[in-house]
Amino acid sequence: MPARTGTQFLEGLQRNPPNIYVDGAKVDDPTTHAATANAARSIAHLYDLQHRPDLVEVMTYVSPSSGERVGLSFLEPSSREDLRRRARMHKVWADASLGFIGRSPDYLNVNLMAAARAAPYFDLQDGRYGEHMRRYYEFVRENDLCLTHALTNPQVNRGVRADQLIDPYIALGLVKETAEGIIVRGARMMATLPIADEILIFPSTVLKEQEEMTRYALAFAVPCSTPGVSFQCREPLDVGRSHEDHPLGSRFDEMDAMVYFDDVLVPWERVFIVNDVKLANRAYASTGAVYHMAHQVVNVKIAKAEAFLGVAQAIVDMIGSEQFQHVQQKVAELIVTLEVMRALKTQSEETAAVDAYGTMTPGKDALNAARNLFPQLYPRMVEVLQLLSASGLIMIPTEADRKGPMADAIQRYLSARNADADTRVRLFRLAWDMTISSFGGRQNLYEKFFFGDPVRTQCALYQGYDTAPYVERVRRFLERSDDPAATPAAPAD
Ligand SMILES: Cc1cc2nc3c(=O)[nH]c(=O)nc-3n(C[C@H](O)[C@H](O)[C@H](O)COP(=O)(O)OP(=O)(O)OC[C@H]3O[C@@H](n4cnc5c(N)ncnc54)[C@H](O)[C@@H]3O)c2cc1C
Repeated sequence: MPARTGTQFLEGLQRNPPNIYVDGAKVDDPTTHAATANAARSIAHLYDLQHRPDLVEVMTYVSPSSGERVGLSFLEPSSREDLRRRARMHKVWADASLGFIGRSPDYLNVNLMAAARAAPYFDLQDGRYGEHMRRYYEFVRENDLCLTHALTNPQVNRGVRADQLIDPYIALGLVKETAEGIIVRGARMMATLPIADEILIFPSTVLKEQEEMTRYALAFAVPCSTPGVSFQCREPLDVGRSHEDHPLGSRFDEMDAMVYFDDVLVPWERVFIVNDVKLANRAYASTGAVYHMAHQVVNVKIAKAEAFLGVAQAIVDMIGSEQFQHVQQKVAELIVTLEVMRALKTQSEETAAVDAYGTMTPGKDALNAARNLFPQLYPRMVEVLQLLSASGLIMIPTEADRKGPMADAIQRYLSARNADADTRVRLFRLAWDMTISSFGGRQNLYEKFFFGDPVRTQCALYQGYDTAPYVERVRRFLERSDDPAATPAAPAD
């Protein structure tokens, strides 16, 4: 099947509904259930963009196996231009939600692509597993499936190892191997976008297990409808309001869920790592997958930074505050954030290099910087929008109010210098959903943690960064004599 349409995505969910539980009940059809239908439609919209005549070339490419046009995020990049081409695709999908869908399917598509390219890595454990990875990537690519993923163990007691908990199967672990495959039991916390076709279980990008933890060293994939796999969703943030009232929450609540595995059989052909702690600990970094994911992420964050800047400037224009210096300075902060993220994206493409598996991989230093910087900048972006909007952010009558008995007063007192009240309220409702609604609050948390615990992510950056040349330069500076001829040459950058 070539790149799917939105309808095909929705039909797939109806045919094989993920085992989702929301607010005490099972969701029979996620395409019609109030908590998930709008998000499913938003993901369907992304798939439809693959078929828009003016975007077909941007969004798809010709599959090397089937000759059909498949989603461009599956592309196996061999040049910097391939990475730039893929970035254009990421940006189209990110712009469709102003960057507020974090886990659009391209995020895990690039993960799978890199893991499949690195098939020899998985072969280090067992000659079959690399082939499993490769075949699974091709299966997902050719069927244009949507994946969710879960990397971390439940937060029961971070003070002890998973095998020291009273029940060693709180964390997802291997129960036994059988002729058909492996049996797994336990939970992972957590999976965003459970309205997906398949779930990918991979080791964490930053958490490292110890030798005793072989049971938990796992990588595999199964359909979200597999018996024994269940998704316990958090309370929905799409609360049934109109797009006018909740412009983001009513569209993009991608949902988060705990994932329970109740003695689930994973067929051998879907097993990529089992019982190998060393391989699991290095899986993301050694396959390069984490850098391809970070490259998708930086494109989404650029879309989000553009949205904050656009909304901030529109608000300033609307209420006539642009002449105040501190207002200009605050908008300038958003411009700096945007330009820094753009620069890091460009730098990651400029410093891209072919990895051990022949894949053109974006530069890790720039992406690690972006990955660590944006979570720090995001709360300030939210604060800037709040500071620029003040009471405007809260005085936002609903659609019903604007049609009700106070409609005339609303039109009169809530207009703006360049807009009527409807236009003004629509803009401020968007700013509200970005910053202070429940949807906005969850975004704030998401930005802090979606790519791992910021503390350990920064430690990983520190530990992996080559600081030696700069220490050496300082040493040489301290040793330099005043005689220019005797001054040691600076090491090349
Ligand atoms: C909105 C949202 C969406 C998410 N979506 C996904 C997803 O789709 N897929 C997925 O796999 N994951 C997802 N995550 C989970 C994310 O990967 C984790 O939140 C992140 O890795 C941190 O783990 P944790 O939440 O278990 O926090 P914990 O590890 O329990 O940390 C809690 C606190 O304790 C501290 N702490 C705990 N252990 C240590 C330690 N050893 N050293 C130092 N400090 C420590 C942390 O710094 C933090 O302050 C999502 C998270 C959020 C909030």
